[in-house]
Amino acid sequence: MRKIGSHVSMSSPDYIAGSVKEALAYGADALMLYTGAPQNSFRAPISQLRIEEGLTIWKEHDYDPVDIIIHCPYIINLANTLKPETYEMGKEVLRKEIDRTMAIQARYMVLHPGSALTGDVTESLLQVARGINEVLREDDNVVIALETMAGKGSEVGKTFEEIRLIIDNVIYKDKIGVCLDTCHIHDAGYDLSDFDGVLRQFDEIIGLEKLCVVHVNDSKNVRGAHKDRHANIGYGEIGFDILNTIVHHPALDSIAKILETPYINKQAPYGYEIENFRNEQFREIPL
Ligand SMILES: [Zn+2]
Repeated sequence: MRKIGSHVSMSSPDYIAGSVKEALAYGADALMLYTGAPQNSFRAPISQLRIEEGLTIWKEHDYDPVDIIIHCPYIINLANTLKPETYEMGKEVLRKEIDRTMAIQARYMVLHPGSALTGDVTESLLQVARGINEVLREDDNVVIALETMAGKGSEVGKTFEEIRLIIDNVIYKDKIGVCLDTCHIHDAGYDLSDFDGVLRQFDEIIGLEKLCVVHVNDSKNVRGAHKDRHANIGYGEIGFDILNTIVHHPALDSIAKILETPYINKQAPYGYEIENFRNEQFREIPL
């Protein structure tokens, strides 16, 4: 199994160099980071991010910058058809995030499709595509990976059909893809005990070639709960065996698999979770 890692922090003073070192300490060969706090748009200037230093360390381990995944901030909500200023602000933040992603030499940027609130779901999905079209340029070397959502509240992108509607309406098809989150699709109602069946559906509705990132999380809730509460691997309703089958699935071999499980007693569980997957055997996390 290759290309497994976790969400890592990126903060002053080490920035990307610190993120890479954190991932390596977990035994990871992929990582995901937010370029600042996920809930706001304040960002340090690109020149301060210690990008070269981080990439040098990453490449010394023969790892690929394409496996450095960027997660866009949550405040982007292109699906909000009720408040034009939210949509405009989302586009502005997304454009800057595209530039930062290219400066980091990463390619995949995970984006939450957003929430429709009381608006019409189809209109919201079409607006997400329009927003992406208004900021993406032909020479951008990125892929926006729309994340499959749990369907909490009025979240859109909770079915493969909804994701497909966005993709169908994006102009630059080579710059749009999907991030599949195991907790979210379980919470949305998909049965991960038949992962081949889920992949078949994904392929029929979206196309497997669009899958570019997988978020590997257990879920605190039963299938179809529409809750979105991540659990540590082997401590939730999906369970270790199913998630282990997923991370070792040959169809996902070339795709980064990223853990976003909760900290335990303020400590990162990722080194232990990655080790369990590499050993294909569940051991209690000693934290
Ligand atoms: Zn996400």
